[in-house]
Amino acid sequence: MNENIPIHEYDVVIVGSGIAGCSAARELHRNGKKVAVITKLHPLRSHSGAAQGGINAALSKDDEIDLHMFDTIKGSDYLGDQDAIELMCTKAPETIRWIERMGAAFTRNNDGTIAQRPFGGQSKPRACYAKDRTGLTLLQTIFEQAHRDGVTFFDEWYVSDIIYKEGKVHGVVAYNIRDLEFAIFKSKATMFATGGYGRAFKVNSNAHANTGDALSIVARHGLPLEDMEFVQFHPTGLAGSGILISEAARGEGGKLFNSEGERFMERYAPNKMELAPRDVVSRSIQKEVLEGRGVGPNKDAVFIDLTHLGEKVIMEKLPELRDLALTFLGLDMIKEPILISPTAHYSMGGIPVNIDGKVRKSCSDFVEGFYAAGECSCVSVHGANRLGANSLLEALFFGRHTGESILRDLNDKKLSNPNVVFEDAKRALEEVEKILKSNGSEKIAKIREELQESMTNDAGVFRTKESLLRQQEKLNELKARFENIRIDDKSKVFNTDLQEAIELGHMLDYSFFIVEGALIREESRGAHYREDFPNRDDDKFLKHTIAFMDENGKISTQFLDVALGKFEPQPRTY
Ligand SMILES: Cc1cc2nc3c(=O)[nH]c(=O)nc-3n(C[C@H](O)[C@H](O)[C@H](O)COP(=O)(O)OP(=O)(O)OC[C@H]3O[C@@H](n4cnc5c(N)ncnc54)[C@H](O)[C@@H]3O)c2cc1C
Repeated sequence: MNENIPIHEYDVVIVGSGIAGCSAARELHRNGKKVAVITKLHPLRSHSGAAQGGINAALSKDDEIDLHMFDTIKGSDYLGDQDAIELMCTKAPETIRWIERMGAAFTRNNDGTIAQRPFGGQSKPRACYAKDRTGLTLLQTIFEQAHRDGVTFFDEWYVSDIIYKEGKVHGVVAYNIRDLEFAIFKSKATMFATGGYGRAFKVNSNAHANTGDALSIVARHGLPLEDMEFVQFHPTGLAGSGILISEAARGEGGKLFNSEGERFMERYAPNKMELAPRDVVSRSIQKEVLEGRGVGPNKDAVFIDLTHLGEKVIMEKLPELRDLALTFLGLDMIKEPILISPTAHYSMGGIPVNIDGKVRKSCSDFVEGFYAAGECSCVSVHGANRLGANSLLEALFFGRHTGESILRDLNDKKLSNPNVVFEDAKRALEEVEKILKSNGSEKIAKIREELQESMTNDAGVFRTKESLLRQQEKLNELKARFENIRIDDKSKVFNTDLQEAIELGHMLDYSFFIVEGALIREESRGAHYREDFPNRDDDKFLKHTIAFMDENGKISTQFLDVALGKFEPQPRTY
């Protein structure tokens, strides 16, 4: 391995070019900072571009910021931090106008106002949308702006480590996927905007790239992760593949039916019906299936029926969804109901940050020069369960806001100069070298499959102490087997075998956090449902979990108080 690796120097290095990363980059660059965005994909392939349904803002005359806040807090099962939620909801209308002025074309009403559709758990139609391609519209707009302004993008570069010394992050170590050439990116400020980690589950709606690399990169340095037990299962994934059928389908009026032709949501959420929040609907579907009222070849799905909307509405408002169901199920939603089941979708937990995007070192202290925003972070506006259309808002708003916070810290000279030496890349170089030389008997694909299958079965929609202990044991077994892998491609050019092996290492590490958090949290709240503790327990668990991994992989957990505010915890019924 070449020891003379180049060192690039920037004011700010941003990892990830989804909506959060591009928003921050644009703000910083416009204010005269030298910014590099490093991304393992082409920016427009970031998962943000897959978002279909919408982005929330209390825009209409009969909606209110307070109502948006209340819905979000209730949706979060009171675990969301109310200061962060207040900031996001208050700034939502301005954020929509900001991106609209840059050119994002939202779908409109006849009177010219921005159209808004109902989404689960919301008291008003609040999701602004661009047909069912909202994420792509936003991502294209913000990327185009950042690119036009001259932000430097390092596409198809893989970040494999941070340089963390003396309580400060000094930059990152990355390699070019094209030829495996390493470089150090040294910076006064480093920001992670690396997206979610749904790929740890077998049935999921996430892009292949959503392997949560950043989480374990951070955790391997002894830095904490927050609320990792909260993984959202979206109720409507296409049966079998888990590919998302956006909540827009329920928002526009989709009805759920079981094998007996019952509209079963009447049993579970008589007021909100299909528009109850995702955690409630997912559990209801799973319950129908477990009690033998599922449909489809494996009886593990239910129907969503949209036929009553008619061809015109479907083609106007849900054209992509119709295409997906046609392509992957061979079913035309204009003519017949389609088969859906819950799919791992969103990561509420992540890298703990404060309201300005600064990364936590502990419950009371922060890392110098290190920031995070978007799905990889936990700020926490979603608490135990995210409401639909709040996460594009989080990525767009907190991406920009964190950019502004970095700008302030740079201008106020709060960040010391980075200090890096070649030795700082050692860990990343050794990881790659070890995998390239690996000559064991285990296949990456096999370990990954077993990981995803077992996480779905034992740490999925329903959990018990028993299932979680079984999963912990399984993870230990998989981790041991990971030490004995072999990859066939030993070359340096576009070595996807190598990348998949590194990513699997990350998936294994953060899965330990999901399971540990779920074990410790002996209650049911939001997306985390313990069959052995079916009630919410505010006395013990109205708290965030902050978990640390030691060098031996052992995880210890502390609790951090939730930032409460004017909305007192109440029972959560719909
Ligand atoms: C199918 C689907 C539909 C959705 N629909 C909606 C919706 O309608 N409304 C809503 O509010 N939310 C929706 N969401 C959620 C929302 O889209 C995401 O939470 C949000 O877009 C995340 O943005 P981000 O900028 O944080 O990350 P992403 O857009 O996921 O970007 C992550 C970036 O990190 C980079 N990266 C990751 N690891 C590395 C590494 N090791 N080295 C270099 N680069 C790296 C990637 O290349 C990528 O550029 C949906 C999600 C999915 C999966």
